Amino acid sequence: MSHILIIGSANADHVMKFEYLPAAGQTLMSHEYRLEQGGKGANQAVACARLAKSGSFIDFICHLGQDSVGNDMRQSWIKDGISTEGISQVAGLSTGTAMIFIGDNGQNTIGVAAGANASLSPHDLDNHIELFARAQYLLIQLETPTATAVKALQMAKKQGVITVLNPAPATALGNSCLKWVDIITPNETEAEALSGIEINGTEDAQMAAQLLHQQGVGIVVITLGSRGAYVSSTDFTGLVPAINVQAIDTVAAGDTFNGALVVGLSEGMSIAAAVGFANAASAITVTRQGAQRAIPYRHEILY
Ligand code: ADP
Repeated sequence: MSHILIIGSANADHVMKFEYLPAAGQTLMSHEYRLEQGGKGANQAVACARLAKSGSFIDFICHLGQDSVGNDMRQSWIKDGISTEGISQVAGLSTGTAMIFIGDNGQNTIGVAAGANASLSPHDLDNHIELFARAQYLLIQLETPTATAVKALQMAKKQGVITVLNPAPATALGNSCLKWVDIITPNETEAEALSGIEINGTEDAQMAAQLLHQQGVGIVVITLGSRGAYVSSTDFTGLVPAINVQAIDTVAAGDTFNGALVVGLSEGMSIAAAVGFANAASAITVTRQGAQRAIPYRHEILY
């Protein structure tokens, strides 16, 4: 049975679509509006909860605001089976918010207010030692403060928890923290930010992976969008091809991939099998609109 701890962000995504993007000083009416539950941490927690077998424990440490959006997120995560012990609603702060403007030509502009996400401090993790103690795997990203991510990785390693870092978004991550990372899962942009190598194919991916291994990371999985994912590990090295689908919206593809990968590994799948499972899950996500609502359930995965 899987026992996974996710730490990270939650955002309410306000998505507005326009014929063209409003210019500075201009007010435009959108022709479509939707409010999506997103944020990398929350998306990955939802992916783990929907994809894990029943009876699994999915813990999520995050900070929400004490607002209606935060209440709604909490309720929908409970329905998905995420345990509430790590979820805090912080007085005086709003839930993280992203304003996403999309033009009909595909261009977008995005503004993010980190809100309660920014208040998740290293000290807050001390209140959740029991969640670290019962986890097999920690899955973490970089939308909450980096110092918190570094402390979480250290705490997990001290407890013998296997650590998985999704180094997204691409930020100047102190490379010294890589020694606490067992498995790293950058996309092409993030792999380039970490290694300085532009990823155009599997040879570049292998060179980038080699640099990450030299810094102490055991398994490197570089996601390559519609091509699949490149794995570098002692058990298996090579490309695991994506499933061929008609993609309509790639939001949350990487988050579904990460959640599924950790679920697969926690069930004892080999790294190649777990990456195949993750490709299958995220292929479904890209055929649907939205963030968390696009993430599939276990019974939908034919793998
Ligand atoms: P991110 O969303 O973090 O940028 P990627 O674009 O690399 O990450 O996508 C993550 C995973 O989602 C890929 O490894 C693949 O399994 C799946 N995926 C993404 N785009 C497609 C697509 N067009 N068709 C099938 N699978 C896809």
